[in-house]
Parts: sequence; C-alpha cells; structure tokens
Amino acid sequence: MSTRRQFLASSAALGTITLLPYAAMAAGHASDTFETANGSITVHPIAHASFVMETPSGTIYVDPVGDAASYADMPAPDMILITHEHGDHFNAETLAAIMGGTTVMLSNPAVFDKLSADMQAKTTVIANGEEAMLADVGIEAIPAYNTTEDRLNFHPKGRDNGYVVTIDGMRIYISGDTEGTSEMRALENIDVAFVCMNLPFTMDAKAAAEAVSEFAPTYVYPYHYRGRDNGTQDPAEFAQMLTGAVEAKMGGWYG
Ligand code: ZN
Ligand code: ZN
Repeated sequence: MSTRRQFLASSAALGTITLLPYAAMAAGHASDTFETANGSITVHPIAHASFVMETPSGTIYVDPVGDAASYADMPAPDMILITHEHGDHFNAETLAAIMGGTTVMLSNPAVFDKLSADMQAKTTVIANGEEAMLADVGIEAIPAYNTTEDRLNFHPKGRDNGYVVTIDGMRIYISGDTEGTSEMRALENIDVAFVCMNLPFTMDAKAAAEAVSEFAPTYVYPYHYRGRDNGTQDPAEFAQMLTGAVEAKMGGWYG
C-alpha cells in the first residue's frame, strides 16, 4: 500500500479533521477519507459531477448518472441528492437502476416534477434556502445559478440547488452548476467543498478560485471541469490560483 500521510486541518465544527488518502480498491478511482468525531467519510469520485460518499449516516450518492455499472463496486445508496435536471446530473434510468427499496432521495422542485409517482414517493423536495433533515443528515439548499448575462439561460436563478450536507458536524458543500454567487461566497465553516467549473455552462477556473478563496473551505475538490470546445478548465491552474490555506483535492473524475 502507499504511504499514509496525515494532514491536519482546523475546523470550527470539529476541532480537527484528519485526512487519510489511500488508493481505492474498487473501480480504479482514488478515494479520500475524512475522519469525523464519530467515524469517517470516504469520498469516491465517479465521473464529472457524480460521486459517492460513505458516511457514518449511510451511503450518499450525489447526482448519479451514467451506466449503473459505474456504481457496482459501491455500497447501495441510502440517500441520493439531485442538484438539477441537466443530463450530467439527473438521469431517471440510472436512478431506477440503482435505487433500492429503502433509498431516499432529495431534489429541487423542478427535478421532482420530472419524477415518476413511484420515485416522488421516496423524494423530499427542497427549494433554494430551505433545509431538511434526512435521518441524521442535515441538508441546506444553496442557490445555484448563472450570473453572467449570456449564461443566464443555463441555470436561471431560483431553480437549481447546491447543497451543504452536515454529517457528524462535518460540513460538505456541493456546488451543483453555478457561478461564484454571493450565496457561495457567504458560506461559513465548510470542511470539504465540491466546486464546478466549465464554460459556457458554469464559470472558469479563475472565477471559481476567487469564490472558493472567499469562503475558504478546508479542502476543495474541483469537479465538473470539462465542457465543450474550449470550455474545459484546468484543475491544477485552479489549485494554483487559490489563496489562503485552502487545499485542493484532485479526484479521478474523468477516468
Ligand atoms: Zn447544469
Ligand atoms: Zn452540469
């Protein structure tokens, strides 16, 4: 096995979080484990905007899309979070294939309207600014939207969600598709953040680095960074542009 290194980071919520990177056994994707007071949270990047978190409160899938086989090595989902309706975040066929009898889902209202009655019965809806508690997982819906004039139609304000997920005091921010909004910049005490960047749909690496430096999570995963044509952003450049003590984590988002 690879060398184990410990990174200590301060967290207002937890006092100390220890990060133990190791090579994942499954699927060839690197994973990172973050220790909470009562257990650990392991992050498995799957692809682009899709990832899985194994937590003391169960296994959480975020925006799972694509071939269900991509998730075959993961524990079944106890909870699924959907940020918005675009095909790289929401796919009803993938959901039907991976949802178990006890899986609960949470989405924004626009996605809820696109679900079958069967799936709606398992889904909690929250809109921008609302909060929910699923089992002992706290979830806040953070507005996700474009702010640049010629991008407003991609993610109009008020429709799509980002999320702050709180587990064992650890606060995890999932941006969804957004630019560096005032709501993102005002986030506080984020331990781990997942922040999108691609053009024309979201923002470039520089804008993402500026916004992330402002809310200053302990760790940030650049994700959702490939786009069409010249819209692909370089996560290494993003990491270099971060200011302060924010540490970038690189996931194997694209194979
Ligand atoms: Zn989108
Ligand atoms: Zn997207």
